[in-house]
Amino acid sequence: MKIERGEIVIRSLTGRCPNCGEFGMFKTWFRLHKHCTHCEMQLEKEESGFYFGTTSIGYVLAILFIIIPVCILVVKGLLGMWTGISVGIIGSVILCVLLYPFMLCWVIMTYFAVCPLELPKNAQEDPT
Ligand SMILES: [Zn+2]
Repeated sequence: MKIERGEIVIRSLTGRCPNCGEFGMFKTWFRLHKHCTHCEMQLEKEESGFYFGTTSIGYVLAILFIIIPVCILVVKGLLGMWTGISVGIIGSVILCVLLYPFMLCWVIMTYFAVCPLELPKNAQEDPT
């Protein structure tokens, strides 16, 4: 393989295209380009596979870093119930919005670290 898993992980988590290593994946904060602007690698696989994965990571992060701490504060009486609910909802939304590009990077990293041969540069290699 031309691009090893370690390289894929580093490139993806720094917001770069896992195939060519250039910054060309993001169209906006919430959207990927359909293809990398440098190497034309396809970034949107099935309809919205990457976005679906992002949502799941968002839930997990919101539960771990917002919902559970807020519940503990409410149970300990340090936060009122309705304040806790408001903080939980608003905090989860803000967390997901702020971390969205990172979550997209994470999903791409996971996908190509598991299937490195999906990268065009790795697939071009002569099997002999
Ligand atoms: Zn690229």
